[in-house]
Amino acid sequence: MADVADRPEAGRPDADARLAAIYQDIILDHYRRPRGKGALDAPDLAAERRNPLCGDEISLQLALDGDVVREVRFTGRGCSISQASASMLTQAIRGKTRAEAEALVRRFVALAHGDAEAGGDKAMGELRALQGVARFPARIRCATLAWGALDDALKCDTARGDASRGEREG
Ligand code: ZN
Repeated sequence: MADVADRPEAGRPDADARLAAIYQDIILDHYRRPRGKGALDAPDLAAERRNPLCGDEISLQLALDGDVVREVRFTGRGCSISQASASMLTQAIRGKTRAEAEALVRRFVALAHGDAEAGGDKAMGELRALQGVARFPARIRCATLAWGALDDALKCDTARGDASRGEREG
């Protein structure tokens, strides 16, 4: 992996295998016990994306308090990577301003594409568990699906998000 030099333990096969196992556990935990799953009664922003290659679907809803994301929920179905990533997104985005959320979208997309600096950033928290998808291009779309939906939702200018307008493949 491109980011091995950033981790003191890395480079040794046993350390890499241990880290991969930890990351796998985090992904499966979010897949089996998704956080932030469900629908909001009165979302301010919403968007939906699909990944036809894998059959993944993510619908995202946000409630704002001024400029701050007060609550975020998702519904969807699909592979463990896509659903775990959406679950982690809800935890990562809650309480952030729209600008901070947009910056995190860019940061996460970079991580999913193998950016070593983003992958080694402790501030990314559990999201770092998904950096392994960079080695599997087909899975990058799974990991970034919810983030694309978030990007669509944040770009809605109306007070009420228009889910149909935001529905795109991606
Ligand atoms: Zn998938």
